[in-house]
Amino acid sequence: MSGMNKKLNIPEDTIAAVIGHPIAHSRSPLIHNSWLEQQGISGRYETIDVTPAALPSFCDDLRHSHLKGINVTIPHKEKIIPLCDEIDDTAQKIGAVNTISIKEGKLHGTNTDAYGFIRNLQTSVSDMAFKDKKALVLGAGGACRAVLYGLIEQGMTDIRLTNRTTEKARALAAEFKGVRVIPWDERADHISDIDLLVNTTSLGMHNQLPLEMNLDSLSSHTVVTDLIYNPLQTDLLKRAAGKGCPTVGGLGMLVYQAEKAFSLWFGDTPDITDDLIKELEDSL
Ligand code: NAP
Repeated sequence: MSGMNKKLNIPEDTIAAVIGHPIAHSRSPLIHNSWLEQQGISGRYETIDVTPAALPSFCDDLRHSHLKGINVTIPHKEKIIPLCDEIDDTAQKIGAVNTISIKEGKLHGTNTDAYGFIRNLQTSVSDMAFKDKKALVLGAGGACRAVLYGLIEQGMTDIRLTNRTTEKARALAAEFKGVRVIPWDERADHISDIDLLVNTTSLGMHNQLPLEMNLDSLSSHTVVTDLIYNPLQTDLLKRAAGKGCPTVGGLGMLVYQAEKAFSLWFGDTPDITDDLIKELEDSL
């Protein structure tokens, strides 16, 4: 049995972790511990519950720890930006940090969510194309920022954005070039010619309200993706699949954002095995 790192209140063999508040529900330990074992790297990935008030002192202690890095989740993704020593361009533009690498006592912040989102689509849909294509994105919360950044980076030029709270969508459209706002009540009127439909709202998630949206005019060539992974196949995806559309659930995004973080910390790209996916699916 190893001892404890008293300052961070984690076992001494911890080499990476995820922080959030609350954090007990996180699937990240399952993913990263399976890869640490797979790659023959000794050490564990833990969850650390950090309250917003404790975040600054946690970051100071982290600088002097032996951890390779951490993931950052709700509610710290934005608040941790000024507490890092360096933020890369991706995290700066997304406006959130989900991954920190610790090198020579310095905290380097980045964001791997956009990579996870795009990679999930590319690996799930064989002829996935973004350049000069059209998308409708539902929602304007934290996850939406990474989605917009990823789509624009891939060369999408016509991105329609709609959100229950229109002001939030307008604020995003002012920040992300090529994004225009559609009224929430008219969301179903803008899907007949799109190549991609993305749900970044929490509607349709386990224990949340359903996403109400008429899909009558959706064409079967449109790729439909949901960031939600619990359930694995949301009602939106089921209905789109019923119309012949290629559909992509959110679990892959979770796994690919983790893959990128793991390779930043440890230099190795882990294998995403069927066993890992099955274990994740069973854990939901
Ligand atoms: P968030 O910042 O809280 O944003 C929630 C979004 O859902 C907002 O656009 C909000 O609209 C909308 N919404 C919530 N309740 C609604 C309702 N009753 N009617 C209409 N719109 C409603 O959350 P987030 O961090 O962006 O996460 C959003 C979803 O993505 C969650 O389900 C999360 O689990 C999932 N996610 C998945 C991954 C992955 O790796 N697969 C990564 C990140 C997030 P308002 O602005 O009007 O409130």
